[in-house]
Amino acid sequence: MLTGHYGPAFIIKATNKKIPLWMLFLAVQLPDIIWDTLILAGIEKARINPSLPSNPLEIYYMPYSHGLVSTVLYSLAVVGVLMLVPNIRRHKAIAWWCGAAVFSHWLLDFLSHRPDLPILGDTSLKIGLGLWNCPVWATVIEVALFLGSAIWYAVSVGGFRRRATWLFWIFVAISVATSCIHSEAIPFTTPYPIAIFALVYYVLSTLTIYFVERNQLRTN
Ligand SMILES: [Zn+2]
Repeated sequence: MLTGHYGPAFIIKATNKKIPLWMLFLAVQLPDIIWDTLILAGIEKARINPSLPSNPLEIYYMPYSHGLVSTVLYSLAVVGVLMLVPNIRRHKAIAWWCGAAVFSHWLLDFLSHRPDLPILGDTSLKIGLGLWNCPVWATVIEVALFLGSAIWYAVSVGGFRRRATWLFWIFVAISVATSCIHSEAIPFTTPYPIAIFALVYYVLSTLTIYFVERNQLRTN
């Protein structure tokens, strides 16, 4: 799951207008930002298996980025770090919602991944409900979550100025198109281009949403 992780970010923002959306965008993707970095550094391991449905990644070693315990620790670390920021300390809910956003990543990965999510370290017990094994449903659920929550967010903040409106919907369209790419369309034989693509997508998404948010018609 790539774009679907932004679903919880949009939903939290739509119901808690004080939280900067760019911050939630980084929080919901934090485990994958760590995974991409560790894959590129050769610390976590994955291989491409084109015969796998939906997503060709066979992730056989990721004790740091996607363990259940490590994700809980990342969530708490985000809460702790944000509490050090004076403005956020006055609105503690911002820190706690960002922590929850980090953990939402693991929950959605639990739904979509084949059993490759370790509990602690590289335990032999790995879990995942394997929605990826049903490509049509994996795509329908991810697109519905992303698109539904994006529309809810846009409506809840009362729309954006003209250029930001264009940028927002271009971002939404590119993200939906990306969700529809399946294993057979991915030409790579190593996971490195996928990690680089994902990092670029996260950076551009965050910058896009920062610009869009600054051009809301209604200020919170
Ligand atoms: Zn992930």
